[in-house]
Amino acid sequence: MFWDRESETLARPALERFQLGQLQETVRRVAQRVPFYQRKFAELGIKPEDIKSLEDARRLPFTASADLFAAYPDGLLAVAADEPVRLHTSSGTTGKPKAVFFSRNDINNSAELMARSLVMTGVTHKDVLQNMMSYGLFTGGLVMHYGAERVGCLVIPAGPGTSERQLMLMQDFHTTAVHILPSYALYFARFLEQRGVNPRKDLKLRKAFVGAEPHTEETRRRIEEAYGIDVYNSYGLTEMNGPGIGFECEHKAGLHLWEDHFLIEIVDPVSGQPLPEGERGELVLTTLRREAMPLLRYRTHDITSIIPEPCACGRTHRRLNRIVGRADDMLIVRGVNIFPQQIERILMSTPQVGPNYLIVLEGLDDMAIQVELASAGFDGQVEHLSGLRHQLAEKFKTELYVRPKVELVPAGSLPVTEGKAKRVIDRRSL
Ligand code: ADP
Ligand code: ZN
Repeated sequence: MFWDRESETLARPALERFQLGQLQETVRRVAQRVPFYQRKFAELGIKPEDIKSLEDARRLPFTASADLFAAYPDGLLAVAADEPVRLHTSSGTTGKPKAVFFSRNDINNSAELMARSLVMTGVTHKDVLQNMMSYGLFTGGLVMHYGAERVGCLVIPAGPGTSERQLMLMQDFHTTAVHILPSYALYFARFLEQRGVNPRKDLKLRKAFVGAEPHTEETRRRIEEAYGIDVYNSYGLTEMNGPGIGFECEHKAGLHLWEDHFLIEIVDPVSGQPLPEGERGELVLTTLRREAMPLLRYRTHDITSIIPEPCACGRTHRRLNRIVGRADDMLIVRGVNIFPQQIERILMSTPQVGPNYLIVLEGLDDMAIQVELASAGFDGQVEHLSGLRHQLAEKFKTELYVRPKVELVPAGSLPVTEGKAKRVIDRRSL
Protein backbone atom coordinates (compact mmCIF):
# COMPACT_ATOMS: atom_id res chain seq x y z
CA MET A 1 0.00 0.00 0.00
CA PHE A 2 1.19 3.48 -0.86
CA TRP A 3 0.39 6.90 0.55
CA ASP A 4 2.12 8.82 -2.25
CA ARG A 5 2.90 6.23 -4.90
CA GLU A 6 4.45 8.67 -7.33
CA SER A 7 7.02 10.08 -4.89
CA GLU A 8 7.70 6.71 -3.29
CA THR A 9 8.43 4.92 -6.56
CA LEU A 10 10.10 7.70 -8.53
CA ALA A 11 12.75 6.18 -10.85
CA ARG A 12 16.28 6.72 -9.51
CA PRO A 13 17.47 9.10 -12.26
CA ALA A 14 14.44 11.35 -11.71
CA LEU A 15 14.82 11.09 -7.93
CA GLU A 16 18.48 12.08 -8.17
CA ARG A 17 17.73 14.99 -10.49
CA PHE A 18 15.16 16.18 -8.01
CA GLN A 19 17.66 15.81 -5.14
CA LEU A 20 20.23 17.90 -6.97
CA GLY A 21 17.76 20.71 -7.59
CA GLN A 22 16.73 20.71 -3.93
CA LEU A 23 20.33 20.54 -2.74
CA GLN A 24 21.28 23.54 -4.86
CA GLU A 25 18.29 25.46 -3.58
CA THR A 26 19.12 24.60 0.05
CA VAL A 27 22.76 25.63 -0.37
CA ARG A 28 21.73 28.92 -1.96
CA ARG A 29 19.34 29.66 0.88
CA VAL A 30 21.74 28.96 3.72
CA ALA A 31 24.48 30.93 1.91
CA GLN A 32 22.12 33.90 1.84
CA ARG A 33 20.63 33.63 5.29
CA VAL A 34 22.66 31.67 7.82
CA PRO A 35 25.85 33.34 9.10
CA PHE A 36 27.18 29.99 10.35
CA TYR A 37 27.15 28.54 6.81
CA GLN A 38 28.39 31.81 5.30
CA ARG A 39 31.44 31.52 7.52
CA LYS A 40 31.96 27.84 6.70
CA PHE A 41 31.64 28.45 2.94
CA ALA A 42 34.18 31.29 3.17
CA GLU A 43 36.62 29.07 5.09
CA LEU A 44 36.32 26.33 2.49
CA GLY A 45 36.35 28.79 -0.40
CA ILE A 46 33.12 27.46 -1.93
CA LYS A 47 30.14 29.16 -3.49
CA PRO A 48 26.64 27.80 -4.13
CA GLU A 49 27.40 27.69 -7.89
CA ASP A 50 30.13 25.11 -7.19
CA ILE A 51 27.49 22.46 -6.44
CA LYS A 52 26.88 21.00 -9.88
CA SER A 53 26.29 17.34 -9.05
CA LEU A 54 25.24 15.25 -6.06
CA GLU A 55 28.87 14.20 -5.62
CA ASP A 56 29.72 17.86 -5.06
CA ALA A 57 27.83 17.60 -1.77
CA ARG A 58 31.11 16.18 -0.44
CA ARG A 59 32.63 19.63 -0.76
CA LEU A 60 30.09 21.11 1.64
CA PRO A 61 30.94 21.57 5.33
CA PHE A 62 29.73 19.10 7.93
CA THR A 63 27.36 20.26 10.63
CA ALA A 64 28.10 18.73 14.04
CA SER A 65 25.87 18.51 17.07
CA ALA A 66 28.39 20.87 18.72
CA ASP A 67 27.40 23.45 16.10
CA LEU A 68 23.76 23.13 17.17
CA PHE A 69 24.69 23.53 20.82
CA ALA A 70 26.76 26.59 19.94
CA ALA A 71 23.92 28.07 17.88
CA TYR A 72 21.42 27.70 20.73
CA PRO A 73 18.78 29.07 20.84
CA ASP A 74 18.18 30.19 17.24
CA GLY A 75 21.53 30.79 15.52
CA LEU A 76 20.80 28.41 12.63
CA LEU A 77 17.45 29.86 11.58
CA ALA A 78 17.11 30.45 7.84
CA VAL A 79 13.80 32.33 8.12
CA ALA A 80 12.63 35.41 10.01
CA ALA A 81 12.36 34.79 13.74
CA ASP A 82 8.56 34.98 13.69
CA GLU A 83 8.13 32.42 10.91
CA PRO A 84 8.60 29.05 12.63
CA VAL A 85 5.45 27.49 14.05
CA ARG A 86 6.96 24.80 16.25
CA LEU A 87 10.02 24.06 18.37
CA HIS A 88 11.39 20.65 19.31
CA THR A 89 14.53 19.95 21.26
CA SER A 90 16.89 17.06 21.55
CA SER A 91 18.53 16.34 24.86
CA GLY A 92 22.01 17.48 25.58
CA THR A 93 23.69 15.20 28.08
CA THR A 94 24.41 18.28 30.17
CA GLY A 95 23.08 21.80 30.02
CA LYS A 96 21.09 23.25 27.13
CA PRO A 97 19.49 21.10 24.45
CA LYS A 98 19.71 21.36 20.68
CA ALA A 99 16.83 23.50 19.39
CA VAL A 100 15.16 22.62 16.09
CA PHE A 101 12.57 24.90 14.47
CA PHE A 102 9.82 23.98 12.02
CA SER A 103 7.93 26.21 9.60
CA ARG A 104 4.37 25.43 8.57
CA ASN A 105 5.67 23.59 5.48
CA ASP A 106 8.22 21.71 7.59
CA ILE A 107 5.41 20.45 9.83
CA ASN A 108 3.37 19.54 6.79
CA ASN A 109 6.30 17.60 5.32
CA SER A 110 7.02 15.77 8.56
CA ALA A 111 3.38 14.66 8.76
CA GLU A 112 3.45 13.64 5.11
CA LEU A 113 6.53 11.44 5.56
CA MET A 114 5.06 9.95 8.72
CA ALA A 115 1.88 9.10 6.78
CA ARG A 116 3.92 7.44 4.01
CA SER A 117 5.77 5.45 6.63
CA LEU A 118 2.66 4.20 8.42
CA VAL A 119 0.81 3.30 5.24
CA MET A 120 3.71 1.24 3.94
CA THR A 121 3.25 -1.10 6.90
CA GLY A 122 -0.44 -1.50 6.08
CA VAL A 123 -1.92 1.13 8.42
CA THR A 124 -5.28 2.54 7.23
CA HIS A 125 -7.89 4.98 8.53
CA LYS A 126 -9.47 2.03 10.32
CA ASP A 127 -6.53 1.72 12.71
CA VAL A 128 -6.53 2.95 16.27
CA LEU A 129 -3.03 4.11 17.10
CA GLN A 130 -2.02 4.48 20.72
CA ASN A 131 1.00 6.73 20.87
CA MET A 132 2.92 5.71 23.97
CA MET A 133 5.88 7.98 23.27
CA SER A 134 6.42 11.10 25.27
CA TYR A 135 4.62 14.22 24.02
CA GLY A 136 6.18 17.64 24.45
CA LEU A 137 9.58 18.73 23.26
CA PHE A 138 10.46 15.19 22.18
CA THR A 139 9.39 14.56 18.55
CA GLY A 140 8.10 11.02 19.14
CA GLY A 141 4.75 12.35 20.38
CA LEU A 142 3.61 15.11 18.05
CA VAL A 143 5.28 14.08 14.80
CA MET A 144 3.79 10.58 14.93
CA HIS A 145 0.50 12.07 16.05
CA TYR A 146 0.14 14.43 13.08
CA GLY A 147 1.13 11.71 10.60
CA ALA A 148 -1.34 9.17 11.97
CA GLU A 149 -4.15 11.75 11.99
CA ARG A 150 -3.37 12.51 8.38
CA VAL A 151 -3.87 8.84 7.52
CA GLY A 152 -7.19 9.06 9.34
CA CYS A 153 -6.42 6.76 12.25
CA LEU A 154 -8.04 7.35 15.59
CA VAL A 155 -5.00 8.56 17.52
CA ILE A 156 -4.83 8.11 21.27
CA PRO A 157 -2.20 10.51 22.65
CA ALA A 158 -1.53 8.29 25.65
CA GLY A 159 2.05 9.42 26.20
CA PRO A 160 4.25 7.33 28.45
CA GLY A 161 1.74 7.09 31.36
CA THR A 162 1.33 4.16 33.67
CA SER A 163 0.94 0.63 32.33
CA GLU A 164 -2.42 0.38 34.07
CA ARG A 165 -3.80 3.30 32.11
CA GLN A 166 -2.23 2.12 28.84
CA LEU A 167 -4.00 -1.21 29.22
CA MET A 168 -7.33 0.45 29.98
CA LEU A 169 -7.09 2.62 26.85
CA MET A 170 -6.02 -0.35 24.77
CA GLN A 171 -8.98 -2.44 25.87
CA ASP A 172 -11.67 0.24 25.85
CA PHE A 173 -10.77 1.84 22.52
CA HIS A 174 -9.63 -1.33 20.70
CA THR A 175 -6.10 -0.17 19.94
CA THR A 176 -4.72 -1.88 16.82
CA ALA A 177 -1.26 -0.26 16.68
CA VAL A 178 1.16 1.20 19.19
CA HIS A 179 4.13 3.53 18.90
CA ILE A 180 6.40 2.51 21.73
CA LEU A 181 10.00 2.29 22.90
CA PRO A 182 11.28 -1.27 22.37
CA SER A 183 12.49 -1.46 25.98
CA TYR A 184 9.03 -0.46 27.21
CA ALA A 185 7.33 -2.91 24.83
CA LEU A 186 9.20 -5.75 26.53
CA TYR A 187 8.42 -4.40 29.96
CA PHE A 188 4.74 -3.95 29.12
CA ALA A 189 4.52 -7.54 27.85
CA ARG A 190 5.53 -8.71 31.27
CA PHE A 191 2.98 -6.40 32.87
CA LEU A 192 0.26 -7.99 30.71
CA GLU A 193 1.44 -11.44 31.70
CA GLN A 194 1.23 -10.52 35.38
CA ARG A 195 -2.25 -9.12 34.87
CA GLY A 196 -3.33 -12.33 33.16
CA VAL A 197 -4.01 -10.51 29.88
CA ASN A 198 -3.33 -12.55 26.76
CA PRO A 199 -2.58 -9.99 24.03
CA ARG A 200 -3.50 -12.46 21.26
CA LYS A 201 -6.97 -13.04 22.63
CA ASP A 202 -7.78 -10.09 24.86
CA LEU A 203 -6.45 -7.21 22.73
CA LYS A 204 -6.98 -6.07 19.12
CA LEU A 205 -3.31 -5.18 18.74
CA ARG A 206 -1.78 -6.00 15.32
CA LYS A 207 1.26 -3.77 14.90
CA ALA A 208 3.90 -1.91 16.86
CA PHE A 209 6.27 0.79 15.66
CA VAL A 210 9.37 0.74 17.77
CA GLY A 211 12.28 3.12 17.70
CA ALA A 212 13.97 6.11 19.30
CA GLU A 213 16.60 3.81 20.77
CA PRO A 214 18.88 1.14 19.35
CA HIS A 215 17.55 -2.40 19.52
CA THR A 216 18.38 -5.68 17.86
CA GLU A 217 16.60 -8.06 15.52
CA GLU A 218 16.33 -10.45 18.48
CA THR A 219 14.48 -7.80 20.47
CA ARG A 220 12.07 -7.28 17.58
CA ARG A 221 11.40 -11.01 17.45
CA ARG A 222 10.82 -11.14 21.18
CA ILE A 223 8.24 -8.37 21.02
CA GLU A 224 6.53 -10.01 18.04
CA GLU A 225 6.32 -13.30 19.89
CA ALA A 226 5.22 -11.79 23.19
CA TYR A 227 2.22 -10.04 21.60
CA GLY A 228 1.62 -12.02 18.41
CA ILE A 229 1.98 -8.86 16.28
CA ASP A 230 4.15 -7.34 13.53
CA VAL A 231 6.86 -5.00 14.76
CA TYR A 232 8.38 -2.36 12.49
CA ASN A 233 11.59 -0.47 13.09
CA SER A 234 11.25 3.32 13.06
CA TYR A 235 14.29 5.58 12.88
CA GLY A 236 14.52 9.31 13.25
CA LEU A 237 16.21 12.14 15.06
CA THR A 238 14.97 15.53 16.17
CA GLU A 239 17.44 17.38 13.92
CA MET A 240 15.78 15.71 10.90
CA ASN A 241 12.04 15.88 11.87
CA GLY A 242 12.03 13.04 14.40
CA PRO A 243 10.17 9.83 13.48
CA GLY A 244 8.99 9.07 9.94
CA ILE A 245 12.25 9.65 8.08
CA GLY A 246 13.48 6.03 8.09
CA PHE A 247 10.87 3.30 8.39
CA GLU A 248 10.44 -0.32 7.49
CA CYS A 249 7.94 -1.40 4.84
CA GLU A 250 5.86 -4.57 4.96
CA HIS A 251 9.00 -6.63 4.19
CA LYS A 252 10.71 -5.57 7.43
CA ALA A 253 14.07 -5.66 5.71
CA GLY A 254 15.75 -2.35 6.44
CA LEU A 255 14.67 1.27 6.87
CA HIS A 256 13.57 3.10 3.73
CA LEU A 257 14.96 6.59 4.09
CA TRP A 258 12.91 9.18 2.21
CA GLU A 259 15.48 10.43 -0.25
CA ASP A 260 13.32 13.13 -1.80
CA HIS A 261 13.66 14.94 1.55
CA PHE A 262 17.12 13.88 2.72
CA LEU A 263 20.46 13.26 1.06
CA ILE A 264 22.23 10.21 2.53
CA GLU A 265 25.96 9.76 2.94
CA ILE A 266 27.90 7.18 4.92
CA VAL A 267 31.29 8.39 6.13
CA ASP A 268 34.14 7.04 8.17
CA PRO A 269 33.27 8.21 11.70
CA VAL A 270 36.88 9.18 12.44
CA SER A 271 38.18 10.69 9.19
CA GLY A 272 34.82 11.89 7.83
CA GLN A 273 35.76 10.44 4.41
CA PRO A 274 32.85 9.08 2.34
CA LEU A 275 32.64 5.28 2.27
CA PRO A 276 31.59 3.13 -0.70
CA GLU A 277 27.90 2.16 -0.83
CA GLY A 278 27.24 -0.86 1.37
CA GLU A 279 30.04 -0.21 3.85
CA ARG A 280 29.25 0.47 7.45
CA GLY A 281 29.96 3.91 8.86
CA GLU A 282 28.37 7.04 10.23
CA LEU A 283 25.14 8.27 8.69
CA VAL A 284 25.32 11.86 7.46
CA LEU A 285 22.11 13.58 6.36
CA THR A 286 21.38 16.79 4.48
CA THR A 287 17.88 18.23 4.54
CA LEU A 288 16.59 18.88 1.03
CA ARG A 289 13.31 20.64 1.75
CA ARG A 290 13.67 22.22 5.16
CA GLU A 291 12.68 25.86 5.38
CA ALA A 292 13.11 26.99 8.96
CA MET A 293 16.37 25.26 9.77
CA PRO A 294 18.09 23.47 6.90
CA LEU A 295 21.13 21.42 7.90
CA LEU A 296 23.99 20.46 5.61
CA ARG A 297 25.80 17.13 6.09
CA TYR A 298 24.63 16.64 9.65
CA ARG A 299 26.74 14.08 11.53
CA THR A 300 24.14 11.83 13.16
CA HIS A 301 26.75 9.67 14.97
CA ASP A 302 24.53 6.72 14.07
CA ILE A 303 26.38 3.72 12.67
CA THR A 304 24.74 1.86 9.79
CA SER A 305 25.15 0.97 6.11
CA ILE A 306 23.12 1.42 2.93
CA ILE A 307 21.40 -1.62 1.43
CA PRO A 308 22.05 -1.02 -2.28
CA GLU A 309 19.61 -3.64 -3.65
CA PRO A 310 16.11 -2.48 -4.57
CA CYS A 311 13.32 -3.55 -2.21
CA ALA A 312 10.59 -5.98 -3.22
CA CYS A 313 7.95 -3.40 -2.30
CA GLY A 314 8.82 -1.29 -5.35
CA ARG A 315 9.88 1.82 -3.46
CA THR A 316 12.99 3.36 -4.95
CA HIS A 317 14.20 5.09 -1.79
CA ARG A 318 17.16 3.16 -0.47
CA ARG A 319 17.16 1.27 2.80
CA LEU A 320 19.48 1.50 5.77
CA ASN A 321 20.45 -1.48 7.84
CA ARG A 322 19.35 -1.48 11.46
CA ILE A 323 21.35 1.14 13.41
CA VAL A 324 24.13 -0.60 15.32
CA GLY A 325 24.40 2.25 17.82
CA ARG A 326 25.82 5.73 18.08
CA ALA A 327 29.52 6.16 17.47
CA ASP A 328 29.73 7.63 20.97
CA ASP A 329 27.95 4.58 22.48
CA MET A 330 30.85 2.37 21.57
CA LEU A 331 32.53 0.97 24.65
CA ILE A 332 36.22 0.29 24.76
CA VAL A 333 36.92 -2.43 27.29
CA ARG A 334 40.45 -3.71 27.60
CA GLY A 335 41.19 -2.33 24.17
CA VAL A 336 38.25 -4.09 22.52
CA ASN A 337 35.52 -2.06 20.78
CA ILE A 338 32.06 -3.19 21.81
CA PHE A 339 28.60 -1.87 20.94
CA PRO A 340 25.96 -2.50 23.62
CA GLN A 341 23.85 -3.95 20.78
CA GLN A 342 26.25 -6.88 20.45
CA ILE A 343 25.59 -7.70 24.08
CA GLU A 344 21.85 -7.30 23.64
CA ARG A 345 21.83 -9.65 20.66
CA ILE A 346 23.41 -12.42 22.72
CA LEU A 347 21.08 -11.85 25.67
CA MET A 348 17.87 -11.64 23.66
CA SER A 349 18.60 -14.84 21.78
CA THR A 350 18.86 -16.69 25.10
CA PRO A 351 15.35 -17.79 26.15
CA GLN A 352 16.09 -18.00 29.89
CA VAL A 353 17.03 -14.31 29.88
CA GLY A 354 14.43 -11.59 30.53
CA PRO A 355 14.07 -8.24 28.75
CA ASN A 356 16.14 -5.99 30.99
CA TYR A 357 19.89 -5.80 31.45
CA LEU A 358 22.54 -3.36 32.60
CA ILE A 359 26.17 -3.07 31.59
CA VAL A 360 28.40 -1.84 34.40
CA LEU A 361 31.97 -0.81 33.72
CA GLU A 362 34.02 -0.57 36.89
CA GLY A 363 37.38 -0.96 38.55
CA LEU A 364 40.31 -0.43 36.26
CA ASP A 365 38.66 -1.76 33.11
CA ASP A 366 36.20 -4.48 34.06
CA MET A 367 32.81 -5.19 32.59
CA ALA A 368 29.94 -6.72 34.51
CA ILE A 369 26.58 -7.48 32.93
CA GLN A 370 23.54 -7.67 35.17
CA VAL A 371 20.97 -9.84 33.48
CA GLU A 372 17.35 -10.28 34.50
CA LEU A 373 16.02 -13.81 34.33
CA ALA A 374 12.87 -14.48 32.33
CA SER A 375 9.96 -14.84 34.75
CA ALA A 376 9.51 -18.47 33.73
CA GLY A 377 13.21 -19.00 33.19
CA PHE A 378 14.42 -20.29 36.53
CA ASP A 379 13.31 -23.51 38.09
CA GLY A 380 15.06 -22.85 41.41
CA GLN A 381 17.98 -25.18 40.79
CA VAL A 382 21.27 -23.58 41.61
CA GLU A 383 23.27 -25.66 39.13
CA HIS A 384 21.02 -24.45 36.29
CA LEU A 385 21.76 -20.88 37.26
CA SER A 386 25.48 -21.36 37.26
CA GLY A 387 25.15 -23.26 33.97
CA LEU A 388 23.40 -20.29 32.40
CA ARG A 389 25.96 -17.88 33.77
CA HIS A 390 28.74 -19.99 32.30
CA GLN A 391 26.97 -20.35 28.94
CA LEU A 392 26.55 -16.56 28.65
CA ALA A 393 30.14 -15.88 29.67
CA GLU A 394 31.32 -18.28 26.95
CA LYS A 395 29.14 -16.62 24.29
CA PHE A 396 30.48 -13.20 25.25
CA LYS A 397 34.02 -14.47 25.14
CA THR A 398 33.56 -15.95 21.65
CA GLU A 399 31.77 -12.97 20.15
CA LEU A 400 33.22 -10.00 21.96
CA TYR A 401 36.68 -11.26 22.88
CA VAL A 402 36.23 -10.17 26.47
CA ARG A 403 34.85 -12.17 29.35
CA PRO A 404 32.52 -10.01 31.42
CA LYS A 405 31.31 -10.95 34.86
CA VAL A 406 27.72 -12.13 34.42
CA GLU A 407 25.33 -11.53 37.33
CA LEU A 408 21.89 -13.10 37.11
CA VAL A 409 19.22 -11.13 38.94
CA PRO A 410 15.51 -11.85 39.53
CA ALA A 411 12.91 -10.83 36.93
CA GLY A 412 11.82 -7.22 37.37
CA SER A 413 14.65 -6.23 39.70
CA LEU A 414 16.62 -3.86 37.48
CA PRO A 415 15.58 -0.19 37.29
CA VAL A 416 13.15 0.82 34.52
CA THR A 417 13.39 4.36 33.16
CA GLU A 418 10.38 6.16 31.73
CA GLY A 419 12.20 7.43 28.63
CA LYS A 420 14.87 5.77 26.56
CA ALA A 421 16.51 2.84 28.35
CA LYS A 422 19.86 3.47 30.04
CA ARG A 423 21.92 0.35 29.44
CA VAL A 424 25.41 1.40 30.49
CA ILE A 425 26.89 2.70 33.72
CA ASP A 426 30.54 3.63 33.49
CA ARG A 427 32.29 4.06 36.82
CA ARG A 428 35.75 3.03 35.79
CA SER A 429 38.64 4.74 37.46
CA LEU A 430 40.65 4.94 34.24
P1 ADP B 1 17.78 12.54 21.97
O1 ADP B 1 18.98 13.00 21.19
O2 ADP B 1 17.30 13.49 22.98
O3 ADP B 1 17.89 11.14 22.43
P2 ADP B 1 16.29 12.07 19.53
O4 ADP B 1 14.90 11.59 19.50
O5 ADP B 1 16.62 13.14 18.59
O6 ADP B 1 16.53 12.56 20.98
O7 ADP B 1 17.26 10.85 19.35
C1 ADP B 1 17.58 10.41 18.08
C2 ADP B 1 18.57 9.30 18.19
O8 ADP B 1 17.93 8.12 18.72
C3 ADP B 1 19.11 8.87 16.86
O9 ADP B 1 20.17 9.68 16.44
C4 ADP B 1 19.55 7.45 17.18
O10 ADP B 1 20.79 7.44 17.84
C5 ADP B 1 18.49 6.96 18.15
N1 ADP B 1 17.45 6.21 17.42
C6 ADP B 1 16.25 6.66 17.02
N2 ADP B 1 15.56 5.69 16.40
C7 ADP B 1 16.34 4.59 16.38
C8 ADP B 1 16.19 3.27 15.87
N3 ADP B 1 15.09 2.84 15.26
N4 ADP B 1 17.24 2.43 16.03
C9 ADP B 1 18.35 2.83 16.65
N5 ADP B 1 18.55 4.04 17.15
C10 ADP B 1 17.56 4.93 17.02
ZN1 ZN C 1 10.34 -1.88 0.88
